Amino acid sequence: MRINLRNVLGFIAANTFIMAGFVRQARRKALNSKCIISLYFHKPDKKEFEFCIRWLKQKGFRFLSPHDIEKIIKNEMPFPKGGVCITVDDGWQSNVKNVVEVANKHEVPVTIFVSTTPAEEGNYWWSYVKKAQQEGLISFSKGELKKMPEEKRLGILQELKKKVAPARDAMTVDEVKAVSSSPFITIGSHTQTHPILINCQDKQVYEELKTSRQKLESWIGKEVAYFAYPNGDFGQREIQILNSLNYKLAFSSQPRYLTPELLKDNYTLPRFGFLEGASSAENICRMTGIWHSMMTKVPHPAKH
Ligand SMILES: [Zn+2]
Repeated sequence: MRINLRNVLGFIAANTFIMAGFVRQARRKALNSKCIISLYFHKPDKKEFEFCIRWLKQKGFRFLSPHDIEKIIKNEMPFPKGGVCITVDDGWQSNVKNVVEVANKHEVPVTIFVSTTPAEEGNYWWSYVKKAQQEGLISFSKGELKKMPEEKRLGILQELKKKVAPARDAMTVDEVKAVSSSPFITIGSHTQTHPILINCQDKQVYEELKTSRQKLESWIGKEVAYFAYPNGDFGQREIQILNSLNYKLAFSSQPRYLTPELLKDNYTLPRFGFLEGASSAENICRMTGIWHSMMTKVPHPAKH
């Protein structure tokens, strides 16, 4: 656990939920009902990723690939009890050691959703923002850029790219090719440049979804049929374009259990998020869905 006030408070809250028996109840429910827990990570360290895999294995969860989920949708496989689907977004270079090696060692399926431009160029757009912040060149944040109209965001990034050169943090194209040869790794698309799709024009959304897939398929020599929405943002337009491009499944970041009912919407599959750096106790609560359900029950001050 990374020690800071947020994580310490999270640790205390999570242990309270565990001691109250909420996690045990949620786990039993997931293991005894038609329910898939789908999870997303970004760049976990090896210890925390392996802890999750071991915990899920020890508790009796059954690991599923997106291909299994497709088979469940087509009724070629029964909807299992206690299913878990592990996904990792962005394609970080550290995933090679911290995720892929663990998946191979424990023989569990993991899907990595890769953005192709960072693989080609080295960095995600927010790495330029972070570097420029560190060098005192800008005062705005990654969050502010996410809310900007797309042309404005691209204009700012173009300027930043001329000024800062962060160290590579995305997998190289060769690394994407190499990890895809593992029988436990599936590569999915996460667009080319990781824009906020709902801020983009139709043509850009189409290009992002089409070209990323084509590039990944040419790199790995396999079909790329699965997608994860950058930042979890999508609307009906994104679903229609995914459908027109014949993607089979798309994952959001809506924190819900994947039930037979939700599986009917194959372009809005929910996922619970793992929080890197948080305590194991908090992440156990997150993986079992307890964290989100408890946190939404905490009363918020009224908005005016
Ligand atoms: Zn992402």
